[in-house]
Amino acid sequence: MKNLQLSVIIPVYNEEEGLQTLFDRLYPALDKLAVSYEIVFINDGSRDRSAAILRAQFQLRPDVTRVILFNGNFGQHMAIMAGFELSRGQRVVTLDADLQNPPEEIHKLLAKMDEGYDYVGSIRNQRNDSWWRHLASRAMNNLRERITHIKITDQGCMLRAYDRGIIDAINGCREVNTFIPALAYNFARRPAEVVVEHEERAQGVSKYSLYSLIRLNFDLMTGFSVVPLQMFSLVGMVTSAASAFFFVFLVIRRLIIGPEAEGLFTLFALVFFMIGITLFGIGLLGEYIGRIYEQVRHRPRYLVEAVLENRSEEQEAIRQDCGSRIEE
Ligand code: UDP
Ligand code: MG
Repeated sequence: MKNLQLSVIIPVYNEEEGLQTLFDRLYPALDKLAVSYEIVFINDGSRDRSAAILRAQFQLRPDVTRVILFNGNFGQHMAIMAGFELSRGQRVVTLDADLQNPPEEIHKLLAKMDEGYDYVGSIRNQRNDSWWRHLASRAMNNLRERITHIKITDQGCMLRAYDRGIIDAINGCREVNTFIPALAYNFARRPAEVVVEHEERAQGVSKYSLYSLIRLNFDLMTGFSVVPLQMFSLVGMVTSAASAFFFVFLVIRRLIIGPEAEGLFTLFALVFFMIGITLFGIGLLGEYIGRIYEQVRHRPRYLVEAVLENRSEEQEAIRQDCGSRIEE
Protein backbone atom coordinates (compact mmCIF):
# COMPACT_ATOMS: atom_id res chain seq x y z
CA MET A 1 0.00 0.00 0.00
CA LYS A 2 2.79 2.35 0.92
CA ASN A 3 4.23 2.36 -2.55
CA LEU A 4 1.12 3.40 -4.43
CA GLN A 5 2.43 6.15 -6.66
CA LEU A 6 -0.57 8.10 -7.84
CA SER A 7 -4.06 8.92 -6.60
CA VAL A 8 -6.47 10.70 -8.93
CA ILE A 9 -9.32 12.48 -7.16
CA ILE A 10 -12.48 13.31 -9.08
CA PRO A 11 -15.55 15.01 -7.59
CA VAL A 12 -18.77 14.12 -9.36
CA TYR A 13 -22.01 16.04 -9.20
CA ASN A 14 -24.75 15.32 -11.72
CA GLU A 15 -22.39 14.20 -14.44
CA GLU A 16 -24.26 11.17 -15.80
CA GLU A 17 -23.87 12.16 -19.45
CA GLY A 18 -20.14 12.57 -19.35
CA LEU A 19 -18.93 9.86 -17.01
CA GLN A 20 -18.62 7.06 -19.56
CA THR A 21 -16.44 9.19 -21.82
CA LEU A 22 -14.37 10.12 -18.81
CA PHE A 23 -13.78 6.46 -17.96
CA ASP A 24 -12.95 5.66 -21.58
CA ARG A 25 -10.22 8.27 -21.62
CA LEU A 26 -9.00 8.33 -18.04
CA TYR A 27 -8.18 4.67 -17.48
CA PRO A 28 -6.12 4.24 -20.69
CA ALA A 29 -4.32 7.53 -20.01
CA LEU A 30 -3.32 6.33 -16.54
CA ASP A 31 -2.44 2.83 -17.70
CA LYS A 32 -0.06 4.44 -20.16
CA LEU A 33 1.81 6.22 -17.36
CA ALA A 34 3.12 2.89 -16.08
CA VAL A 35 2.79 3.86 -12.42
CA SER A 36 0.68 2.21 -9.74
CA TYR A 37 -2.46 4.28 -9.34
CA GLU A 38 -5.89 4.51 -7.82
CA ILE A 39 -8.83 6.64 -8.88
CA VAL A 40 -11.05 8.03 -6.15
CA PHE A 41 -14.45 9.23 -7.31
CA ILE A 42 -16.55 11.21 -4.89
CA ASN A 43 -20.23 11.39 -5.63
CA ASP A 44 -21.29 14.70 -4.14
CA GLY A 45 -24.95 13.83 -3.67
CA SER A 46 -25.82 13.78 -7.36
CA ARG A 47 -29.51 13.69 -8.09
CA ASP A 48 -29.08 11.86 -11.39
CA ARG A 49 -27.71 8.40 -12.18
CA SER A 50 -24.07 9.32 -11.46
CA ALA A 51 -23.89 7.19 -8.30
CA ALA A 52 -25.20 4.11 -10.11
CA ILE A 53 -22.73 4.65 -12.95
CA LEU A 54 -19.87 4.95 -10.47
CA ARG A 55 -20.97 1.75 -8.74
CA ALA A 56 -20.96 -0.06 -12.06
CA GLN A 57 -17.52 1.28 -12.87
CA PHE A 58 -16.28 0.13 -9.50
CA GLN A 59 -17.46 -3.39 -10.33
CA LEU A 60 -15.55 -3.18 -13.61
CA ARG A 61 -12.21 -2.00 -12.23
CA PRO A 62 -12.23 -2.69 -8.47
CA ASP A 63 -8.45 -2.99 -8.49
CA VAL A 64 -7.85 0.71 -9.15
CA THR A 65 -11.21 2.32 -8.42
CA ARG A 66 -12.56 3.63 -5.13
CA VAL A 67 -15.84 5.45 -4.76
CA ILE A 68 -17.00 7.66 -1.91
CA LEU A 69 -20.73 8.28 -1.85
CA PHE A 70 -21.75 11.41 0.01
CA ASN A 71 -25.02 11.72 1.82
CA GLY A 72 -25.84 15.06 0.24
CA ASN A 73 -24.29 17.89 -1.70
CA PHE A 74 -21.36 19.30 0.25
CA GLY A 75 -19.61 21.10 -2.58
CA GLN A 76 -16.69 20.40 -4.86
CA HIS A 77 -14.00 21.27 -2.35
CA MET A 78 -15.40 19.15 0.45
CA ALA A 79 -15.62 16.29 -2.03
CA ILE A 80 -11.95 16.71 -2.89
CA MET A 81 -11.12 16.87 0.84
CA ALA A 82 -12.84 13.54 1.39
CA GLY A 83 -10.87 12.13 -1.52
CA PHE A 84 -7.63 13.43 -0.02
CA GLU A 85 -8.38 11.73 3.27
CA LEU A 86 -8.94 8.42 1.59
CA SER A 87 -6.11 8.70 -0.91
CA ARG A 88 -2.90 6.74 -0.44
CA GLY A 89 -0.76 7.74 -3.42
CA GLN A 90 2.60 9.46 -3.09
CA ARG A 91 1.27 12.03 -5.51
CA VAL A 92 -2.28 13.22 -5.79
CA VAL A 93 -3.88 14.70 -8.88
CA THR A 94 -7.26 16.41 -8.84
CA LEU A 95 -9.40 16.53 -11.94
CA ASP A 96 -12.91 17.65 -12.91
CA ALA A 97 -15.37 15.04 -14.04
CA ASP A 98 -16.60 17.06 -16.99
CA LEU A 99 -13.52 16.48 -19.17
CA GLN A 100 -12.66 20.15 -19.30
CA ASN A 101 -9.27 19.02 -18.04
CA PRO A 102 -8.19 16.27 -20.45
CA PRO A 103 -6.89 13.24 -18.52
CA GLU A 104 -4.22 12.87 -21.19
CA GLU A 105 -2.52 15.94 -19.71
CA ILE A 106 -1.83 14.37 -16.33
CA HIS A 107 1.59 13.22 -17.48
CA LYS A 108 2.68 16.82 -17.99
CA LEU A 109 2.04 17.61 -14.35
CA LEU A 110 3.84 14.52 -13.18
CA ALA A 111 6.80 15.30 -15.41
CA LYS A 112 7.00 18.74 -13.82
CA MET A 113 6.93 17.13 -10.38
CA ASP A 114 9.83 14.95 -11.41
CA GLU A 115 11.82 18.17 -11.69
CA GLY A 116 11.44 18.61 -7.95
CA TYR A 117 8.29 20.68 -7.57
CA ASP A 118 5.83 19.63 -4.91
CA TYR A 119 2.82 21.53 -6.23
CA VAL A 120 2.01 21.79 -9.91
CA GLY A 121 -0.93 23.90 -10.98
CA SER A 122 -2.14 24.22 -14.52
CA ILE A 123 -3.08 27.02 -16.84
CA ARG A 124 -5.64 26.39 -19.51
CA ASN A 125 -4.45 26.88 -23.03
CA GLN A 126 -6.55 28.58 -25.73
CA ARG A 127 -9.38 29.91 -23.68
CA ASN A 128 -11.57 31.82 -26.01
CA ASP A 129 -12.92 34.24 -23.46
CA SER A 130 -13.52 37.80 -24.53
CA TRP A 131 -10.69 40.30 -24.04
CA TRP A 132 -12.45 42.17 -21.26
CA ARG A 133 -12.82 38.95 -19.31
CA HIS A 134 -9.12 38.34 -19.72
CA LEU A 135 -8.41 41.83 -18.50
CA ALA A 136 -10.82 41.55 -15.60
CA SER A 137 -9.41 38.23 -14.47
CA ARG A 138 -5.85 39.50 -14.71
CA ALA A 139 -6.68 42.55 -12.60
CA MET A 140 -8.45 40.32 -10.10
CA ASN A 141 -5.47 37.96 -9.97
CA ASN A 142 -3.07 40.82 -9.38
CA LEU A 143 -5.10 42.18 -6.53
CA ARG A 144 -5.50 38.75 -4.98
CA GLU A 145 -1.82 37.94 -5.32
CA ARG A 146 -0.93 41.15 -3.56
CA ILE A 147 -3.33 40.53 -0.72
CA THR A 148 -2.89 36.82 -0.15
CA HIS A 149 0.54 36.09 -1.69
CA ILE A 150 -1.05 33.16 -3.42
CA LYS A 151 -0.05 32.90 -7.05
CA ILE A 152 -2.60 30.94 -9.00
CA THR A 153 -2.87 32.10 -12.58
CA ASP A 154 -5.93 30.09 -13.52
CA GLN A 155 -8.18 29.45 -10.56
CA GLY A 156 -10.80 27.86 -12.74
CA CYS A 157 -8.58 24.92 -13.56
CA MET A 158 -8.70 22.10 -11.06
CA LEU A 159 -6.21 19.90 -12.88
CA ARG A 160 -3.49 20.04 -10.24
CA ALA A 161 -0.90 17.75 -8.73
CA TYR A 162 0.20 17.69 -5.10
CA ASP A 163 2.90 15.87 -3.25
CA ARG A 164 2.01 13.63 -0.30
CA GLY A 165 3.45 16.11 2.20
CA ILE A 166 0.97 18.78 1.09
CA ILE A 167 -1.93 16.35 1.18
CA ASP A 168 -1.06 15.33 4.74
CA ALA A 169 -0.90 18.99 5.75
CA ILE A 170 -4.30 19.62 4.17
CA ASN A 171 -5.75 16.58 5.90
CA GLY A 172 -4.59 18.09 9.17
CA CYS A 173 -6.65 21.24 8.53
CA ARG A 174 -10.21 21.29 9.71
CA GLU A 175 -11.26 24.15 7.52
CA VAL A 176 -14.87 24.29 6.53
CA ASN A 177 -14.85 26.94 3.85
CA THR A 178 -11.86 26.54 1.70
CA PHE A 179 -10.44 26.63 -1.77
CA ILE A 180 -8.11 23.70 -2.08
CA PRO A 181 -5.57 25.03 -4.60
CA ALA A 182 -5.02 28.09 -2.41
CA LEU A 183 -4.79 26.08 0.80
CA ALA A 184 -2.30 23.74 -0.83
CA TYR A 185 -0.28 26.66 -2.12
CA ASN A 186 0.31 27.75 1.47
CA PHE A 187 1.94 24.44 2.22
CA ALA A 188 3.99 24.14 -0.95
CA ARG A 189 7.73 24.57 -0.82
CA ARG A 190 8.26 24.72 -4.57
CA PRO A 191 5.12 25.48 -6.53
CA ALA A 192 5.06 25.54 -10.32
CA GLU A 193 2.54 25.82 -13.11
CA VAL A 194 2.27 24.19 -16.50
CA VAL A 195 0.10 24.99 -19.51
CA VAL A 196 -2.39 22.28 -20.40
CA GLU A 197 -4.89 21.81 -23.17
CA HIS A 198 -8.43 22.71 -22.36
CA GLU A 199 -11.74 21.57 -23.73
CA GLU A 200 -15.21 22.90 -23.53
CA ARG A 201 -17.55 21.06 -21.23
CA ALA A 202 -18.74 18.18 -23.39
CA GLN A 203 -21.88 17.20 -21.52
CA GLY A 204 -24.09 18.58 -18.81
CA VAL A 205 -24.05 22.10 -17.48
CA SER A 206 -21.61 24.08 -15.43
CA LYS A 207 -22.47 24.27 -11.76
CA TYR A 208 -20.94 27.69 -11.45
CA SER A 209 -22.10 31.08 -12.64
CA LEU A 210 -20.29 34.36 -13.13
CA TYR A 211 -21.58 35.39 -9.73
CA SER A 212 -19.93 32.43 -8.07
CA LEU A 213 -16.65 33.23 -9.83
CA ILE A 214 -16.73 36.70 -8.28
CA ARG A 215 -17.62 35.08 -4.96
CA LEU A 216 -14.72 32.72 -5.31
CA ASN A 217 -12.24 35.56 -5.58
CA PHE A 218 -13.81 37.34 -2.67
CA ASP A 219 -13.66 34.13 -0.67
CA LEU A 220 -10.03 33.71 -1.60
CA MET A 221 -9.20 37.13 -0.28
CA THR A 222 -11.16 36.90 2.93
CA GLY A 223 -10.37 33.23 3.42
CA PHE A 224 -6.64 33.51 3.15
CA SER A 225 -5.85 36.98 4.38
CA VAL A 226 -6.97 39.62 6.86
CA VAL A 227 -5.58 42.42 4.69
CA PRO A 228 -9.10 43.43 3.54
CA LEU A 229 -10.05 44.10 7.16
CA GLN A 230 -6.86 46.00 7.76
CA MET A 231 -7.33 47.99 4.57
CA PHE A 232 -10.73 48.82 5.87
CA SER A 233 -9.50 50.37 9.06
CA LEU A 234 -7.02 52.31 6.94
CA VAL A 235 -9.85 53.68 4.79
CA GLY A 236 -11.74 54.46 7.97
CA MET A 237 -8.80 56.41 9.34
CA VAL A 238 -8.29 58.37 6.14
CA THR A 239 -11.96 59.29 5.76
CA SER A 240 -12.34 60.30 9.39
CA ALA A 241 -9.21 62.43 9.14
CA ALA A 242 -10.57 64.01 5.97
CA SER A 243 -13.94 64.71 7.55
CA ALA A 244 -12.23 66.20 10.59
CA PHE A 245 -10.38 68.61 8.28
CA PHE A 246 -13.64 69.33 6.52
CA PHE A 247 -15.26 70.17 9.84
CA VAL A 248 -12.46 72.53 10.79
CA PHE A 249 -12.73 74.12 7.36
CA LEU A 250 -16.49 74.66 7.84
CA VAL A 251 -15.98 76.22 11.26
CA ILE A 252 -13.36 78.63 9.96
CA ARG A 253 -15.47 79.38 6.94
CA ARG A 254 -18.42 80.16 9.20
CA LEU A 255 -16.33 82.53 11.26
CA ILE A 256 -14.89 84.33 8.26
CA ILE A 257 -17.58 84.23 5.58
CA GLY A 258 -20.66 83.46 7.68
CA PRO A 259 -23.10 80.52 7.85
CA GLU A 260 -23.29 78.19 4.90
CA ALA A 261 -26.70 77.72 3.32
CA GLU A 262 -25.76 76.23 0.01
CA GLY A 263 -23.81 73.01 -0.27
CA LEU A 264 -26.61 70.83 1.01
CA PHE A 265 -26.07 68.26 -1.72
CA THR A 266 -22.35 68.23 -1.21
CA LEU A 267 -23.18 67.18 2.30
CA PHE A 268 -25.51 64.49 0.97
CA ALA A 269 -22.79 63.20 -1.30
CA LEU A 270 -20.35 63.07 1.57
CA VAL A 271 -22.82 61.34 3.87
CA PHE A 272 -23.79 58.77 1.29
CA PHE A 273 -20.16 58.10 0.58
CA MET A 274 -19.54 57.48 4.26
CA ILE A 275 -22.62 55.30 4.59
CA GLY A 276 -21.48 53.28 1.61
CA ILE A 277 -18.11 52.68 3.16
CA THR A 278 -19.70 51.78 6.47
CA LEU A 279 -22.06 49.28 4.90
CA PHE A 280 -19.23 47.71 2.96
CA GLY A 281 -17.28 47.46 6.18
CA ILE A 282 -20.14 45.77 7.99
CA GLY A 283 -20.49 43.34 5.10
CA LEU A 284 -16.79 42.61 5.18
CA LEU A 285 -16.91 41.98 8.91
CA GLY A 286 -19.83 39.68 8.23
CA GLU A 287 -17.68 37.64 5.84
CA TYR A 288 -15.18 36.95 8.54
CA ILE A 289 -17.74 36.41 11.27
CA GLY A 290 -19.59 34.01 8.99
CA ARG A 291 -16.41 32.01 8.57
CA ILE A 292 -15.80 31.95 12.30
CA TYR A 293 -19.40 30.89 12.83
CA GLU A 294 -19.17 28.01 10.43
CA GLN A 295 -15.89 26.95 11.92
CA VAL A 296 -16.96 27.00 15.56
CA ARG A 297 -20.10 24.98 14.97
CA HIS A 298 -17.89 21.95 14.53
CA ARG A 299 -20.33 20.28 12.25
CA PRO A 300 -19.05 17.39 10.20
CA ARG A 301 -17.78 18.81 6.95
CA TYR A 302 -19.38 16.09 4.93
CA LEU A 303 -21.30 12.90 5.52
CA VAL A 304 -20.29 9.71 3.84
CA GLU A 305 -22.99 7.24 2.98
CA ALA A 306 -20.71 4.49 1.72
CA VAL A 307 -17.22 3.86 0.47
CA LEU A 308 -16.80 1.34 -2.29
CA GLU A 309 -13.34 -0.09 -2.34
CA ASN A 310 -11.55 -3.31 -2.77
CA ARG A 311 -10.27 -3.92 0.72
CA SER A 312 -9.10 -7.47 0.19
CA GLU A 313 -5.42 -6.52 -0.03
CA GLU A 314 -5.58 -4.42 3.10
CA GLN A 315 -7.54 -7.05 5.01
CA GLU A 316 -4.99 -9.57 3.90
CA ALA A 317 -2.27 -7.37 5.35
CA ILE A 318 -4.14 -6.93 8.62
CA ARG A 319 -4.76 -10.65 8.88
CA GLN A 320 -1.10 -11.39 8.34
CA ASP A 321 -0.22 -8.77 10.89
CA CYS A 322 -2.55 -10.32 13.50
CA GLY A 323 -1.27 -13.74 12.59
CA SER A 324 2.32 -12.79 13.20
CA ARG A 325 1.39 -11.24 16.53
CA ILE A 326 -0.36 -14.41 17.63
CA GLU A 327 2.70 -16.41 16.65
CA GLU A 328 4.84 -14.19 18.83
N1 UDP B 1 -18.88 19.47 -8.43
C1 UDP B 1 -19.12 18.85 -7.20
N2 UDP B 1 -20.02 19.41 -6.34
C2 UDP B 1 -20.68 20.56 -6.61
C3 UDP B 1 -20.40 21.21 -7.85
C4 UDP B 1 -19.50 20.64 -8.72
O1 UDP B 1 -18.56 17.81 -6.90
O2 UDP B 1 -21.48 21.00 -5.80
C5 UDP B 1 -17.91 18.87 -9.36
C6 UDP B 1 -18.41 18.68 -10.77
O3 UDP B 1 -19.03 17.43 -10.96
C7 UDP B 1 -17.13 18.77 -11.58
C8 UDP B 1 -16.30 19.76 -10.79
O4 UDP B 1 -16.84 19.76 -9.46
O5 UDP B 1 -16.44 17.54 -11.60
C9 UDP B 1 -16.33 21.14 -11.39
O6 UDP B 1 -17.65 21.56 -11.58
P1 UDP B 1 -18.11 22.36 -12.88
O7 UDP B 1 -17.56 21.71 -14.10
O8 UDP B 1 -19.56 22.52 -12.81
O9 UDP B 1 -17.39 23.75 -12.63
P2 UDP B 1 -16.73 24.70 -13.76
O10 UDP B 1 -15.86 23.84 -14.62
O11 UDP B 1 -17.85 25.30 -14.49
O12 UDP B 1 -15.94 25.66 -12.95
MG1 MG C 1 -16.13 22.25 -15.43
